[in-house]
Amino acid sequence: MPEFQTSPGMRDILPPESARWRRFVDVFAQTVESAGYGQVMSPLLEDLGVFQRIGDATDVVSKEMYDFVDKGGRHIALRPELTASICRAFVQHRPLAPWKIWYSGSMFRYEKPQRGRYRQFDQVGIEVLGADDPNLDVEVIALGWEFYRALGLQQVKLVLNSLGEPDDRARYVQALQTYFEANLDALSAESRVTLQKNPLRVLDSKREQDAALVAGAPRIAQFYSEKAASHFEAVQAGLTTLGIPFTVEPKLVRGLDYYRHTTFEYQGGTLDSAQNALGGGGRYDGLVESLGGPATAGVGFAMGLDRTLLACDDEGVFPAPSAAVDVFVVDTTGGAEALRITAELRAAGLRADRAYENRSMKSQMKAADRSGAVFAVIVGSNELEAGSVVVRPLRAEPAGPDTASGQVAVPRTDLTSHLTKAMS
Ligand code: AMP
Repeated sequence: MPEFQTSPGMRDILPPESARWRRFVDVFAQTVESAGYGQVMSPLLEDLGVFQRIGDATDVVSKEMYDFVDKGGRHIALRPELTASICRAFVQHRPLAPWKIWYSGSMFRYEKPQRGRYRQFDQVGIEVLGADDPNLDVEVIALGWEFYRALGLQQVKLVLNSLGEPDDRARYVQALQTYFEANLDALSAESRVTLQKNPLRVLDSKREQDAALVAGAPRIAQFYSEKAASHFEAVQAGLTTLGIPFTVEPKLVRGLDYYRHTTFEYQGGTLDSAQNALGGGGRYDGLVESLGGPATAGVGFAMGLDRTLLACDDEGVFPAPSAAVDVFVVDTTGGAEALRITAELRAAGLRADRAYENRSMKSQMKAADRSGAVFAVIVGSNELEAGSVVVRPLRAEPAGPDTASGQVAVPRTDLTSHLTKAMS
């Protein structure tokens, strides 16, 4: 074992997997930029207080933050999520509303690592600040849905709920508290602790002991105001218009405390139920205010890159792109010609690699095969004298007894145009 390895819950993403991560973000950017969302790049670190406003009844804030005092005596934290940072940025920069933005990057939570749950993980997400039109809830949800489609995922389920307005939510929390307290003996010890901090989160309990009690708990829908009910109906109607299937799940409260009205989750069909949330979000109309800004509506989602890629693996879609080059240059004359040729080919837009260290022809050809290149360009001393090079197809199909049969000598001056044509 080497002396140093990545810390628990943290991973190196190596090629070719890293290229897949980059493409993931590219596809996401294409999807949301087509709807007018612009990217915000914010710092990895924020004042601890920014995240404390999310609500300290959540594990994310109370237990899982990487926080420390810096050399200037500031108490800061590595971001555990990005919505709070985006709201902080909104208050700081006062952009025109509605502000439609997207982001991507690493988040940090000190969690117990397991498949689909890491301490450093990546998210992509969108937020819309400054408008409370239910059509925006629909747009946001639909963009996430389209993105999963663009990846090729077929087994994602959309689960939807509404937590109502703050007053509705408060009355509901009170009713839950009364209900669970009347049944305290039946509740698991962990949920009893949760009940003290946030009765809503008891509904999140995955413990078998709590299942019956949770199933019999009061439902949020009984507490909706007229406005909350009509907002939720409009969201459902919009999704139906767009042909996006969903299930209403009254127990869906989501991990963070700032949600009101719409909450939703995209659940993967192939992952364990504790890790099956590929992404989720909702409306958080009070968060900007709690960060010192004006009353501002907000809606958005974050989705986990790591976990969504696990779902892609399980469904056999969105594979890592090929890392193969187009052309591999084999030069047995010392390597100076390979230096010129690869530079020329790369300048012409071809992906080109070469062998180094002046190895034997055999060893260079082996490297050419390993590179996955479509063509080898072979430079020998005879060719060099004659002002030509040999172009050999490496993936001749069907593979006959002599796979080199398609090889041709090409004048050195025609090489780039010859290969450009052959590759197209
Ligand atoms: P949240 O910010 O908690 O609403 O999470 C949004 C999404 O981020 C989840 O659905 C996951 O896909 C992903 N996520 C959250 N925590 C982790 C983690 N510890 N490891 C990997 N992915 C995570």
